[in-house]
This record gives sequence, structure tokens and C-alpha cells, in this order.
Amino acid sequence: MTEVYQGSCLCTAISYELLTTPKAVSHCHCSQCRKGHGAAFASYGSVPRSAVQILNGAGHITTYSSSESVLREFCAQCGSTLFWSRSQGEFSDWVSIALGTLDLHASEAKTRLCRLQSSLVYAIQLIASDRLTTMGRFC
Ligand SMILES: [Zn+2]
Ligand SMILES: [Zn+2]
Repeated sequence: MTEVYQGSCLCTAISYELLTTPKAVSHCHCSQCRKGHGAAFASYGSVPRSAVQILNGAGHITTYSSSESVLREFCAQCGSTLFWSRSQGEFSDWVSIALGTLDLHASEAKTRLCRLQSSLVYAIQLIASDRLTTMGRFC
């Protein structure tokens, strides 16, 4: 069954929908993600670009290339970090979603969060098993 996830930025000018469950959920601790989020790490999940639909506010989306091949997308009005993607090479047809911007508040969201959290636990295990440096290199 296909699940739909909706998300929005802090000011709600931008809203989006994911047509599939985010995969490869991870916490990125690289310095760029820390600065981009103003937090100790950033939690992302990835979906194919074709599975992201901007419902409102596409004109508010601003981009910043934090490195030669990485494009970060955020709200020009409130600064919410929304997505990052590779502009070239492997996985350039995928988008990583800042999971904190998902709007999960219905009771059914509980089930979805549990599924996402099990992926997060896996990501934490990867970090614990010394994959942190490798993960940091994604960005
Ligand atoms: Zn906004
Ligand atoms: Zn990062």
C-alpha cells in the first residue's frame, strides 16, 4: 500500500507531499548539516524526486549549494530546512527530506513514526559501528 506523507515549513508557506515512505533514514552529524539546522545533527529520509510534490509555496523555496554537488532547499520566508539533493552523479534523482518538517499529528501517524523510528535506530547503530565518517561524507 502506498503511504502519503505531508510536510510543511515553519511559516507553512510551503507544503509538500511524499508519495512514498522515506527510505535510508539517517542522522547526519557533518558540520554542514549541523550549521544548516542549528542542531547537533539533522535527520533525513530519502525518496525519489518524482515522489515529492510541492503543494503550495514553490516560489518560496530557495536553494543553496553547500558544496559542488549538493543543493540544499529551504524556505526563504522562515528559513526552515526542507530538502537536500545531489545535483550530479549517483542518487541525483533522489531527494533527502528533513524529517522534522513532516506533519505527523493524526493517530495513524503513530504507526508511521514507529516505522521511521526503527529506521532511525538502524542509523544510530550504523553510527555506533563507526559509519559516522562515511555518513558525514554524504553531504
Ligand atoms: Zn516557511
Ligand atoms: Zn550532512
